[in-house]
Order: sequence, then structure tokens, then C-alpha cells
Amino acid sequence: DYGLTEADPEVRTIIDKEKERQFKSLELIASENFTSRAVMEAVGSCLTNKYSEGLPGKRYYGGNEHIDELEILCQQRALAAFHLDGKKWGVNVQPLSGSPANFEVYTAVLKPHDRIMGLDLPHGGHLSHGFMTAKRRVSGTSIYFESMPYRLDESTGIVDYDMLEKTAVLFRPKLIIAGASAYPRDFDYARMRKIADAVGAFLMMDMAHISGLVATSVVADPFEYCDIVTTTTHKSLRGPRGGMIFFKKDPVLGVDLESAINNAVFPGLQGGPHNHTIGGLAVCLKYAQSPEFKAYQNKVVSNCRALASRLTELGYTLVSGGSDNHLVLVDLRPLGIDGARAEKILDLASITLNKNSVPGDKSALVPGGIRIGSPAMTTRGFTEKDFVAIADFIHEGVKITLEAKRLVSGSKLQDFMKFLASPDFPLLDKLSD
Ligand code: PLP
Repeated sequence: DYGLTEADPEVRTIIDKEKERQFKSLELIASENFTSRAVMEAVGSCLTNKYSEGLPGKRYYGGNEHIDELEILCQQRALAAFHLDGKKWGVNVQPLSGSPANFEVYTAVLKPHDRIMGLDLPHGGHLSHGFMTAKRRVSGTSIYFESMPYRLDESTGIVDYDMLEKTAVLFRPKLIIAGASAYPRDFDYARMRKIADAVGAFLMMDMAHISGLVATSVVADPFEYCDIVTTTTHKSLRGPRGGMIFFKKDPVLGVDLESAINNAVFPGLQGGPHNHTIGGLAVCLKYAQSPEFKAYQNKVVSNCRALASRLTELGYTLVSGGSDNHLVLVDLRPLGIDGARAEKILDLASITLNKNSVPGDKSALVPGGIRIGSPAMTTRGFTEKDFVAIADFIHEGVKITLEAKRLVSGSKLQDFMKFLASPDFPLLDKLSD
């Protein structure tokens, strides 16, 4: 039995190259982070070998005494990390990732074609919150359920709760979804609870992006108002790639959430749990209760604020005017460039972030903004001063994007990309500086 270097040098080399890329670049993708060595050891362990369909004590396979112990420990730590009373809240730690966790909730509490309302994707929501376009039901969550998205007030960049309320009264959703992939502010859970109660809907929060901030009480607590809370585990929480679903133990709207959700996960939509991930998640959830983790999350937010204020000083327009969490959304349209071109140029300079729609955008492929997150570089020890420097680097990249756009003949994104790939792209030297 050989190690990776001997058994498969080709894959070893690819991993080494990716490791170097992660090490050398400024990682600013808001949904990414660097997990710990301890988590990676658990994820790379023999736990991956075991089948354990079912729940602790109720498995379809033998030999699960240690896996049961592990899953129970992981559940207990999940409840403790989010300050939850185990008599009132339960958790399923088996979802393979965030999108499956959300779909599992929908199939647990809804019938096919029941109605859902989530934040529209071009306004910061996630695909799995019912995304569809005028032409196409893009996500399975809009194919199997009827989706009516709510949106931001474009003049403020804040969720338009009045419009959400008016639409909910007419549309009568069975489920309202809070949470986002690109929203720099907190949600008003009390207001959303009122709206959900007025129309007889479940209220769910997908806290994927901010679960680390929730665990450390750096942002508002969704558990106070929501019936169900889902999350990924690999973003601000710094765990392995996976998902969790928290549910109230008392029935809600006549539904026993515990059995509905557990059954939706298995056998509804999944088979055997990824026990190596559950092992890594247990490790992450222990760390999430430590004073160091709390200090880390405070820094995630203060670093993001430093970034936001430097970008504002440099004249950039930020959606909602700033940030209360781990990300900023920069609207590049006032400069006459888009997020796709800026992303590409910054990528060439090893600054990794993503193009993002901003309110009012027409195209999702060439959106007008970029999303910048602070969790990963905060894990790498960056301070507020470093985030001011990051803003300055981004500013340089944006200036080069403007110059490159001026030099390109043709207005299509493809023309721009071709130009960058050509040897006569005269700005490469500037980028490597
Ligand atoms: N929910 C939100 C709010 C997200 O931002 C994401 C991913 O970025 C997901 C769910 C989906 O998670 P996954 O990519 O693990 O399916």
C-alpha cells in the first residue's frame, strides 16, 4: 500500500500545484476559507471507509459503534456551538453540502409545487433558494417548487421587507427563506417572522456564509426567530466541506420537523453519510466554541470594515454603503467596467475573488460587481492594515482593467479575454509587480 507520491504522482503534482496557488494568492472569495490541519486529518482518515445509513443507534449496517459515538459527539457539539438547548433544538449533521441540505428541508416540509420565497440570486440570494430566470427554472428548487423571489430595495441595497410582505400576502408561500450568498448586511429576522406568521409559512434561515459569525454572536441570532436553520460548514465556520440542518423539536404548523427532516436526508435524498466529513465537522465545532474562534470572527468583521472603508475612500460604490459582516460587494458600473473583466485581471495578479451581480444588473455572465470576503485571509493572520493594502492592490487591478479595456478592439468579453491571453498584452509587467 503506497502513499500518494508513489501511487499517483500525477494527482500528487496537481495537489501540490493547488496548494501553492492557495498559499501564494490573496484568497478573497467570501465563501472560502482555510480549514485546520486537525480537520484535514479527520477528513483524510479511515472514517471514509464506513457505511452507516441511518442515525446513531438505528443503522442499516453493523460495525457502527464508533461511528455512532462520533455522530452523537458531532451533534452535541453543533448544538453547543450555536448555544442551543437540546430539548428544544435538534440537528442533522449528515447533509453532504449546503445545496442538498436546503433541498432536503424543502422536501421535508413541502409538497411538490408548494410555494417558496427566497432572496433573488441577482440580489444576493443563492441558487438553492428557488432561483429561476424569465426563461428557465434554473435550480431544482424552482423546478419542483413554485418560487417567487423577494429582492433588495435598489436605492438602499437593503432587503425590501415591505415588498416581501406585500408579495407574501398575495403569493401565500409555505416557506420563506432568509440568508444569502452576497449580502453585506444582517437579516431582520423579527420582521420576517411576522411576515411568515401572517401567511402561515415556515421560516428558514440559510446561514451558510455567516455561520461562524452566528456561533460567536458577532451578528444577530437566527435561532431566536426561525423554525429551521441550514448551513454549509466550510465557509466562515472553517470546517470541512459539508452541511447541517437545525430544526425545532416541537411541531411547527402541525409538522414534526425532526422526523420529517431526518427522513428527507435519509432515505429521502441521501444514502450513507460521509463519516470522514462528520469527523472533521466535530473537530471544527469543538474549535468553534473556543475563545480563539471568537477572536477570529471579530477580526473577520473588523478586517472587512477596514477593507470597506478604504474602498470607499478610494471612491468605490459599495452595495448598501458598507458591510456588517464578512463581505463587501463593489459596484464597478460607475467606472464603466464590469466584474468579469476585473476578476480576470485580478486573477492574473493572484488576487482571487469573484464577479458578482449587483442590484439592477442586466447580465449574470457579465455582472457589474465584485464580491470580496475577509474570512480566508483573516485565517492567514491578516490584520486591518493588511486589508487596507488589499484594497489598494484591488484599486491597482481596477485601474489596469480600465486601461486594458481601452486598448481592446471589440466590446465583447471574449475579445477582452483573447487580448489578455495574447503575448502583446502590454500590462503583464505591471500586474506581476
Ligand atoms: N447557501 C448559501 C447561502 C450559499 O452561499 C451556498 C454556497 O455558496 C450554498 C447554500 C451552497 O452550498 P454548497 O456549495 O455546499 O452546495
